[in-house]
Amino acid sequence: MEGETAFKGKGISYCATCDGDFFTGKEVVVVGGGNSALEEAVSLTKYASKVTIVHQFDHFQAFPYAVEEARANEKIRFIMRSVIEGFHGGENLESVRIRNLDTDAVIEYPTDGVFIFIGYLPNTNFLEGQIAMNDKGEILVDPATMETRTDGVFAAGDCIVKKYRQVTTAVGEGTVAALSAAEYIRQQQTERERALPALEEVEQ
Ligand SMILES: Cc1cc2nc3c(=O)[nH]c(=O)nc-3n(C[C@H](O)[C@H](O)[C@H](O)COP(=O)(O)OP(=O)(O)OC[C@H]3O[C@@H](n4cnc5c(N)ncnc54)[C@H](O)[C@@H]3O)c2cc1C
Repeated sequence: MEGETAFKGKGISYCATCDGDFFTGKEVVVVGGGNSALEEAVSLTKYASKVTIVHQFDHFQAFPYAVEEARANEKIRFIMRSVIEGFHGGENLESVRIRNLDTDAVIEYPTDGVFIFIGYLPNTNFLEGQIAMNDKGEILVDPATMETRTDGVFAAGDCIVKKYRQVTTAVGEGTVAALSAAEYIRQQQTERERALPALEEVEQ
């Protein structure tokens, strides 16, 4: 999208938990219509004075409870059947260009920030056919050990199936994956040693 790179960290964010606080008393736009978008929009109302959700469809893909919660929140406005086409401003973001998909009408909408929640793609294509993943390309792991469904392969961080993508969750999973991998190697060595005949047996 035009201007997205220029305003990353200068008004454009992808994480309400991380950056919501920076928009206290300000007006923000949330892009998306899934659970993340609606839940994050509601959480942003703790800080922002007004949250406008821009969504391309006339309905939301989120669970009904999330839609109801967002609709009941007086700080949230909705601009449906619309997409953001550009981000504009000076040093920081000041407005977005929004196009209505039915009428093609374009408006310049003033805002202090935009939170984008239209999904992300983990870089796991190269593992296709080798490691079990869901339809979004997120790796399936046992949360107790971080082991994938492939023996001896462990995964951690944003590439796995999980709800909260944060540095702290990634680091915690990384620790569990590393310890599990070390334990796996120890077990393999022990099993190999057990399988080898004892030296005395060979010499006899
Ligand atoms: C804009 C933005 C702001 C954020 N702000 C915060 C914040 O304030 N606080 C917070 O807690 N979280 C924040 N997050 C989330 C946080 O960055 C992630 O949850 C965290 O970095 C995940 O760590 P990771 O190691 O799984 O993935 P990453 O940090 O993405 O690291 C993955 C690494 O793997 C490398 N890689 C990818 N593919 C391959 C390959 N095929 N071979 C080898 N290497 C490869 C990449 O180059 C990269 O170095 C933010 C995320 C974004 C996008």
